Amino acid sequence: MRIFKFGGASVKDAEGVKNVARILEMVGHSDTLIIISAMGKTTNALEVVVRNYFEKKNFQESIDVVKNFHYEIIRDLFSNENHPVYWKVDGLFAELISFLERNKSPKHSFVYDQVVSFGELISTTIISQYLNDCGIKNTWLDVRNLIKTDSNFRDAAVNWEDTQENIVNNVNKSLLNITQGFMGSDSNFFTTTLGREGSDYTAAIFAYCLDAESVTIWKDVPGVLNADPRYFEKTELLHKIPYTEAIELAFYGASVIHPKTLQPLQRKEIPLFVKSFINPTSSGSSVCNVTELEPKVSCFILKKGQVLISLSSLDFSFIVEENISYIFKLLHDAKMKVSVIQNSAISFSVCVDNKFDTLSDLLEKLKARFKVSVFENVDLYTVRHATEQSIKEIESNKEVLLKQVLQNTVQLVVLG
Ligand code: ADP
Ligand code: ASP
Ligand code: MG
Repeated sequence: MRIFKFGGASVKDAEGVKNVARILEMVGHSDTLIIISAMGKTTNALEVVVRNYFEKKNFQESIDVVKNFHYEIIRDLFSNENHPVYWKVDGLFAELISFLERNKSPKHSFVYDQVVSFGELISTTIISQYLNDCGIKNTWLDVRNLIKTDSNFRDAAVNWEDTQENIVNNVNKSLLNITQGFMGSDSNFFTTTLGREGSDYTAAIFAYCLDAESVTIWKDVPGVLNADPRYFEKTELLHKIPYTEAIELAFYGASVIHPKTLQPLQRKEIPLFVKSFINPTSSGSSVCNVTELEPKVSCFILKKGQVLISLSSLDFSFIVEENISYIFKLLHDAKMKVSVIQNSAISFSVCVDNKFDTLSDLLEKLKARFKVSVFENVDLYTVRHATEQSIKEIESNKEVLLKQVLQNTVQLVVLG
């Protein structure tokens, strides 16, 4: 069985949905399970709904933005005004609004997951209906009946045993199945999400549980490049990538692949193909069981909007095991994702991603025990297989706040 994943960029408008149908006709769709993300930037728009709901302002306007965006796509795809897709999508919006009207929970992360997951429910409903109309007969599956997680809302961890059992027992391999990326449900059947951009990971979960022959993620780039073309001018396509290299690239922030995607695939040696939805027949990149990156070039990763926190002891004492374990406990409690660490006898620097908006709380706790300086909005460059020339290019005209040279990897934190 093959697993395909179509991300937000591939289904950002009616033309994108039509293109998905064309790709399926072109590459075939038997023995295939398709994971689909929310359309375009819907998840961001639903984040605004959540924010406005808690701030009690412009709530209706923010819902209307999401509604109008989807109904425009629907009108483009379905000429029949009485098509069942209308009442299905109406039903989903009614469910979303009814949840918010009834909700009594003040917990932001819980409400967030119940709301943003509608992006995937709506997109898969529209696309499943459209493909059926095009003669690509498919079954729509609610992923919440399959992927079980803990209740760590917004960053839920998969319960592999239950998930494996559900997937094996409920996915009919002889049909074309369509389901949602990014989401699952906890033991109380509340919706959970796996972390932003998590639909690639969903594809890997299904691949692992179904012993799939491959996963293909369809992107707006020709494959995995040696740098993000949004920020770097000359880029090269990486044809073959060992799992370990792909894990490193994704971990350091090459956002073309969600970092959690690789581990389940590597464990079963399932190849991951990253292909262009614009040129579906071009070869793209394969992450697979090879030993060397091909071509062997320097790879550049830029993570913007990071926070550099530097700590030193108040009394000139060493920052050693006891302090470090305390610092890490605070970072863990604040759900900070740590990108770089550097320490000396009396100082400790850490570059973090303030994903869950917990920075001010964390700083307050750190200040009680350390002298703290903070640079917000710094850029983190990571270079794999760096050459002196490639480092020089990054350093030129920038103020470097921290530099770390490891065997294969150079990291630079610079003022944004
Ligand atoms: P999806 O539509 O599946 O959510 P993403 O937008 O998450 O797709 O991923 C594709 C984007 O990843 C590209 O548009 C590109 O800007 C970015 N990207 C970051 N690093 C790389 C890289 N090394 N190679 C290719 N694309 C990259
Ligand atoms: N829709 C989700 C997001 O935008 C998941 C995904 O696209 O992978 O984060
Ligand atoms: Mg994405």
